[in-house]
Amino acid sequence: MTNTTFAELGFSEPICRALAAENYSAPTPIQMRAIPHLLQGKDLLGIAQTGTGKTAAFALPILQKLGKPQQRVAPKSAHALVLAPTRELAVQIGQSFAAYGRHLALRHAVILGGVSQGSQVKALARGVDILVATPGRLLDLVEQGHVRLDDVKFLVLDEADRMLDMGFIHDVRRILAKLPRQRQSLLFSATMPNDVARLAADLLREPERVEVTPQVVTVDRIEQRVFFIPAAQKHALLVDLLKDDDMSRVIVFTRTKNHANRVNDYLGHAGVAADVIHGNKSQNARQRALERFRTGDARVLVATDIAARGIDVEGVSHVVNFELPNEPESYVHRIGRTARAGKSGIAFSFCDQSERGLLRDIERLTKRPLAIEAPRAISADAAPVKAPHQGKRETPHGKAAPRKPEQGAFRRRRQAPRGKSSKVA
Ligand code: AMP
Repeated sequence: MTNTTFAELGFSEPICRALAAENYSAPTPIQMRAIPHLLQGKDLLGIAQTGTGKTAAFALPILQKLGKPQQRVAPKSAHALVLAPTRELAVQIGQSFAAYGRHLALRHAVILGGVSQGSQVKALARGVDILVATPGRLLDLVEQGHVRLDDVKFLVLDEADRMLDMGFIHDVRRILAKLPRQRQSLLFSATMPNDVARLAADLLREPERVEVTPQVVTVDRIEQRVFFIPAAQKHALLVDLLKDDDMSRVIVFTRTKNHANRVNDYLGHAGVAADVIHGNKSQNARQRALERFRTGDARVLVATDIAARGIDVEGVSHVVNFELPNEPESYVHRIGRTARAGKSGIAFSFCDQSERGLLRDIERLTKRPLAIEAPRAISADAAPVKAPHQGKRETPHGKAAPRKPEQGAFRRRRQAPRGKSSKVA
């Protein structure tokens, strides 16, 4: 946080009042650095993750600009378009606009797939100042003639890397082709793979680049331990560890989608109630997996880094780094899923010979060595009888010891988000 106030950044009284009600006393670093450029009308490339305050960084300047001159929005049109990769994120962004703009007379709508389009079409009929959308449903509605994008003055592409990871690139490009050339564009992404850099180059004109490093979570309350173990024994070790009932709600991270599937299958065969979440899964499948994890129907959630971003589930007892991440920052991000809300947590890392360098990078970043776990004799019944992908890399042998899946150990916390539209005020 900084000493500057939102009023000093140039925000109007109704916006400052709304921010005070949210207990935002000062801008976060990304807000501090991005907002002046955005208020000046510049394009922006923001490299930042969820948790940095990036939503307000783009939402506040848009509200400030749209809140001023009373430009009426035409029917079936929008003045600001925010594209987000997932329903959860779109709903969250819509809620932020509603909160920050509660004293402004602006309308917003959230457009998402997987729910009936009737109420969304109705909300768009009069036109909206701010439209938050996932790409597929938006394109559908544009093609059916329910919304036009030729009056968009502000475009935000949020979590662009996740958008590409989830295969939305064609939809996004088709949407971009329908926008007027004269507009202010913003692109946010946590990482900058080549595809995202290309998209940014096509989309942005002389952008300001603002990068904030991920907030380092308090890792002090997290017990961090490492197993030095051959890759071929990792599956069996995981099943063995899961015999401990204290591992009540566990996120297992892998580096790739394939490995995530493999671990999930292996756990399934071992009788562990697990589910998997990664970028090749449909939105519905991911939503279901998350819900099962939240309710406790799935005791283990296997995830890749990008798909796991933004998962905010309470009471995660353990994080397992089945494979160490390439970026040490991801390690901090991963283990931060446990020890939330003042609780303690445990993070296990499985490190094979090829990952020693990654471990050194992690220890350099966190400035503390991980506690080394003694090698353990993995009991024969830790490995299932019939494991998927049997082969050299894995050691399935012995008898499976089916566990009773944990049923309903945790109560459902909240409903899956639904499509909605509302007046901002
Ligand atoms: P985001 O990165 O946009 O998902 O924001 C992460 C969290 O930070 C959200 O819970 C916001 O409500 C909160 N937040 C954003 N900006 C501020 C601020 N200036 N002061 C305090 N909290 C903030």
